[in-house]
Amino acid sequence: MSDFLPYGRQLIDESDIDAVVRALRSDFLTSGPEVDAFEQEFAALVQARHAIALSSATAALHLSLLATGVGAGGRVITSPNTFLASANCAAFAGAIPDFADIDPVAHNLDPAALEAGWREDVKAVIPVTYGGQAADMPAIAEVARSRGAWIIEDASHGVGGGSIYEGKRWKTGGHPWADLTVFSFHPVKTLTTGEGGMVVTDSDELAEKLRRLRSHGVEREPSRFERFGMDEGTLFGSGPWVYEMQDLGYNYRITDIQSALGRSQLKRLPGFLRRRREIVARYNEAFSGLDWLKIPRLRNPEERDEISWHLYTVEIDFSKIGRSRAEVIAILRERGVGSQVLYIPVYLQPWYGRTYGYVAGKCPVAEQFYQKCLSLPLHPGLSNADADRVIAAVSELSEG
Ligand SMILES: *Cc1c(COP(=O)(O)O)cnc(C)c1O
Repeated sequence: MSDFLPYGRQLIDESDIDAVVRALRSDFLTSGPEVDAFEQEFAALVQARHAIALSSATAALHLSLLATGVGAGGRVITSPNTFLASANCAAFAGAIPDFADIDPVAHNLDPAALEAGWREDVKAVIPVTYGGQAADMPAIAEVARSRGAWIIEDASHGVGGGSIYEGKRWKTGGHPWADLTVFSFHPVKTLTTGEGGMVVTDSDELAEKLRRLRSHGVEREPSRFERFGMDEGTLFGSGPWVYEMQDLGYNYRITDIQSALGRSQLKRLPGFLRRRREIVARYNEAFSGLDWLKIPRLRNPEERDEISWHLYTVEIDFSKIGRSRAEVIAILRERGVGSQVLYIPVYLQPWYGRTYGYVAGKCPVAEQFYQKCLSLPLHPGLSNADADRVIAAVSELSEG
């Protein structure tokens, strides 16, 4: 199955390989100049003040909650239509992960559902950029901020993307309606470092906390820990050898090797995004005549060229073509076309049911979407011939 087309995959070329080899030959394998440069370049790209590179987006979500102080006694609301990590991070921090329903168009956290289900103990909201399309962040911010909750945008699907709010173009990570924005560099995402993530913020204070928590909660610069009131009279003392642990942190560092790959991929990002948009346009044109399939819809149609298009997810009326979703996936697979169901509503996972008592019916729109959704191959390495193979395999699902 060498010509099997997965729903997502990385695109690595010689320039990426050369960048990694250069990092391997350098003095630093981790926490060196490549990490600093990757952070600076990423911050510039998304127009944020600070970017902190981490070992994964999961780590970035976990530290975002720790940095904002959300923990025991708090509740965190996210979208049910997401990968597990958007919700699990709340449990890592000792808070309760909870869910508000999605809108039926973009399948993102619905500000009206968020408001309707609001509870006193909600301390943070984690909207997700499903498929690369941003949620209605100004409306979500209005609900959350007026009630004193933090906003952490899970833009794992949104690397390089943007949105249009209040008639203005914004970079994901650069708009003012999130306190922190998280990105993933897993190989199926828009840009890869193997494993890796980034969190961006305009807050100096949150950035400093995130950097400390990334590496065991340790401060090394005397100028920084002086203000924590080091006592010269204690055995701990002060001197050039001293490092101070101020928080219970983790090892969530990214390596120089990964950052070198990230910087090389960052140069190619505009081309990746362009190619994704071309394939989306090709699919949309081919599929828009099918009465049993809905192409991805946009909250704001003007945003079409801002979206990072991590996923191309269609909604299929399986009863209309007389085939179950399992049959459709098998037929596509036989023709070398991969597909994926994204996502099972997170609260339906057995652990969530056992731990929090969540049951089916909690978020009806997400459940309806789950019944119909199927994500088709979308990545920059797809040729027009590959895309046409996907189009043919999908179009012929309704015949015979
Ligand atoms: C991939 C993904 C994550 C986790 O990213 P990792 O870098 O693999 O930890 C979190 N949230 C969403 C929405 C994702 O798609």
